Amino acid sequence: MSLRARLALLSISIVGGVLLIFGVAVYLSVSITLTNQVDHTLEGAAAQIIRNSMADRVGVTLPELNLFADIYIQVWGTDGKLASSSLNIQGFDRPLDTDSLNSVKPVFRDVVIENTQLRVLTVPLIIRNSDRVIGVLQAASSLEMVQAIQEVLIWVLLIGAAISMTIIGLASWFSTGRALSPLETVTQTADQIVRADDLSRRIPYQGPPDEVGHLIMAFNQTLSRLENLFNTQRRFLADVGHELRTPLTVIRGNADLMRRMSGGDEESKESLDSIQSEVDRLTRMVGDLLFLAQAESGKLPLAHDLVELDTLILEVYNQMLVLAKDKLTMRVEEIDQVQVCGDKDRLKQVLVNLLANAIKYTPSGGEVRISLGKLEDQAKIVVSDNGPGIPAEDLPHIFERFYRGEKSRTRSRDGKGFGLGLSIAYWIVRNHGGKIEVTSKEQQGTSFTVWLPLEGESCKGKIFVD
Ligand code: ADP
Repeated sequence: MSLRARLALLSISIVGGVLLIFGVAVYLSVSITLTNQVDHTLEGAAAQIIRNSMADRVGVTLPELNLFADIYIQVWGTDGKLASSSLNIQGFDRPLDTDSLNSVKPVFRDVVIENTQLRVLTVPLIIRNSDRVIGVLQAASSLEMVQAIQEVLIWVLLIGAAISMTIIGLASWFSTGRALSPLETVTQTADQIVRADDLSRRIPYQGPPDEVGHLIMAFNQTLSRLENLFNTQRRFLADVGHELRTPLTVIRGNADLMRRMSGGDEESKESLDSIQSEVDRLTRMVGDLLFLAQAESGKLPLAHDLVELDTLILEVYNQMLVLAKDKLTMRVEEIDQVQVCGDKDRLKQVLVNLLANAIKYTPSGGEVRISLGKLEDQAKIVVSDNGPGIPAEDLPHIFERFYRGEKSRTRSRDGKGFGLGLSIAYWIVRNHGGKIEVTSKEQQGTSFTVWLPLEGESCKGKIFVD
């Protein structure tokens, strides 16, 4: 559930809880006040009747009782017989409150007679100056009015609560929506930064310097700092690449010269071969470093030509056969005629990197397969091997720069990787509008799938990527 919905629900629950307590308090106090009022009236009426009654040994003679039209009066003798009753209940010969007939002190009870709720006061009739009880007087009044008021009160409280909760819920929903809307911009900008790999973006904010404002300021400062760090790193990589290039060329040139001068000396030849192969490896790494530095600074042009992927794959396959030598079997599975728009040399680099990895990490006797097909409007290249696979904890990181799987550092035959091959492949594929996926199971093998959009109509000229 969103934060906004949770805050709205929270305010509705708080208001609902407060209104419930308030409603119960109002309902109880109104009910008690109204009942007290009725009790008071009944007590008044009973007192007046007793004062005006003629009581003797035989019984009680009621005074004029029509005065109390809403009050019903009965007088019961100690023999259990109805001695007298008010005109408005003539003919009703049962006690108004049977249970209290023998009560020795005044008592109030609620009773229901013929579906009508009554409040009944029972008062024992005692002859003045003696303790002799000569009967009981029961005075009753209908509680219909009290019930009607209670019912109206419940409706008023319920409707009031529903309206207040709706208003509070809506107010909270809209006000939190407004307060949180800058955070949505933060999320969108962060998403764009991740998708476009662009740290130069900042979150626009014109609101007050409140909590959200401070958060956005802190976020923008973090971005500036990260951008500086990345720029420094990029410049460093480019500088190191440039600086290393010249000495490497010089070493290679001198090694060539020494080889020519050394004549047939086997030992010197071996050392010079070793120097040369190491220089070649370093030159490749420097090339990779420069490639990434250029790619990330947006200065790398990509051609936008028609590329026949089937021809390109066969070309790379034949080149890589030399690398596989007797170590592995290499197989081209199915291969369709597929054309895409892009930079042939860069796409070749992707294929070379994937196949070189497959050959490098698969032990002797293994198999490396490559296939090319079409699926909807995408070209699909699959490079798979039955090598050691990539551990699940390495999988999310293998496309990162300089990332090398823990095992690869020890297991690869020559240990000459630099952790750049896949990040270069990833960058190239992404800048061709495609994507690269990997699936791998330990001890079973690895499979890289490259998706590239099929050739469109505007496949000409050069583009610069950003
Ligand atoms: P490296 O120079 O180490 O080969 P890459 O960027 O090409 O750098 O690959 C990154 C990591 O991915 C490697 O260190 C290795 O752990 C893993 N990897 C790539 N391809 C394979 C493969 N075919 N089989 C097993 N592991 C692989």
